[in-house]
Amino acid sequence: MVDHLRRTRILATLGPATDRPGVVEALIAAGVNVVRLNFSHGTAEQHAQRVAMVRNAASRQSKEVGVLGDLQGPKIRIEKFAEGKVMLRAGDRFTLDCRVDAAMGDTTRVACSYHGLVNDVATGDTLLLDDGLVALRVERVDDQQVFTTVLTDGALSDRKGLNRLGGGLSLGALTDKDREDICHAAALDLDFLAVSFCRSAADIDEARSLAREAGSQAAMVAKIERAEAITNLAEIIDASDVVMVARGDLGVEIGDAELPGLQKKIIRETLERNKTVITATQMLQSMVDNPIPTRAEVLDVANAVIDGTDAVMLSAETASGQYPVKSVEAMARICLGAERQFVHDTDFEAAKRGLNRTDEAIAMAAMFLTEHIQVRAIVAMTESGGTARYLSRFRSTSPIYGMSRHAGARRRMALMRDVFPIDFDSRGLAPRKAAREAVRHLFQLGLLEVGDRVIITSGDHMEQLGATNTLRLLKVGPEGVAEGLGEL
Ligand code: PGA
Ligand code: MN
Repeated sequence: MVDHLRRTRILATLGPATDRPGVVEALIAAGVNVVRLNFSHGTAEQHAQRVAMVRNAASRQSKEVGVLGDLQGPKIRIEKFAEGKVMLRAGDRFTLDCRVDAAMGDTTRVACSYHGLVNDVATGDTLLLDDGLVALRVERVDDQQVFTTVLTDGALSDRKGLNRLGGGLSLGALTDKDREDICHAAALDLDFLAVSFCRSAADIDEARSLAREAGSQAAMVAKIERAEAITNLAEIIDASDVVMVARGDLGVEIGDAELPGLQKKIIRETLERNKTVITATQMLQSMVDNPIPTRAEVLDVANAVIDGTDAVMLSAETASGQYPVKSVEAMARICLGAERQFVHDTDFEAAKRGLNRTDEAIAMAAMFLTEHIQVRAIVAMTESGGTARYLSRFRSTSPIYGMSRHAGARRRMALMRDVFPIDFDSRGLAPRKAAREAVRHLFQLGLLEVGDRVIITSGDHMEQLGATNTLRLLKVGPEGVAEGLGEL
């Protein structure tokens, strides 16, 4: 089933709220394109059950729904308090103690199991706990303790996350748990694997090679959520398939005032580098408890669409909120409205910077044509989804049908804006014949009508990755039989 209207993709996080009977089914019916398993929570069995639920519901509804596994990553956390929680007051002295892993914190100190902390922080630094709810100023550091003054009143409870304003806490990107979860992701045949707190291209390369060793073909998602990732943004985008603007942790590390500018920069640079981009976190946060979003949230989602994002993400709203289905419905509605406002300023500047690949050049030519003649659709006959990705980097008004015989490729295309994945096997057909069969298939699905003009990209060797080298301009004739065109 092809839902024609909406072009922006919706990513929804699974959790206890979606385990209730019928919820996953309803989320997919409401328009979820990709679901996220958050490996920071839940057991391997729970994740396996959720994947099975999603695959069943998707196949019942004949939809291509991708699954993303989000690695926990090296989030630095404090240990525990004797009472579970303490109240800190501005001006109090408070010590982070790396000597012990003990769970005996009180109002004067708490343990931190990251022993490198003393090397990473210096006098004058600001440390932020619990996504910024508690702020500490570093007064002094010795070889095992960090002495601080509390800057704001606030409650602090067990195992809360710790960030340094400005970034620079240097834990490696992949933990032992992440390595295990990569193996689980491979066993579950997940379509996307997200690397949390990545710092450099090397972090993505390492995760990718572990995934490939484990037999996974997942697309690699770089979560941009620490200051170093901004410094190394270009190389990280080049090393990944998808980039996530992870606004939760990024806002804590960089300061919230920098977020709007960074979101625009990350989206723009990701599209320029031919990759897919997700905007994430707190998009409809108030819907955790309320059935409708705030006006500010409506504007936030709409602005991400206008910035050009491929996908918008829901976290707690669907994973643990009271209104998971209403959240997806609100998101779909807001995306549709924003897409009507979106200015299709197809930008061919990238061509001037130079084209590196044949499929990229063909995609560019196809999008140039759609700007200058009326076409009903662009059709990419693709093995891996790569050509569809190049096509979808240019925002146009024509839908892109990504036709592939590989279920994994179709599910990866489910995250790309403007792309509609279609199951189609052209093996055994010569390229000319295959293109005409593809048009007939879309006609039979009711997606094309007699008289429509279509652009089709394909390769001489359909079974080969990245081999797209041909662009055809066809017109749909009677019974869906495509003809070449004379006059436009
Ligand atoms: P998280 O990542 O939900 O795994 O923390 C997203 C973010 O930090 O925004
Ligand atoms: Mn995060």
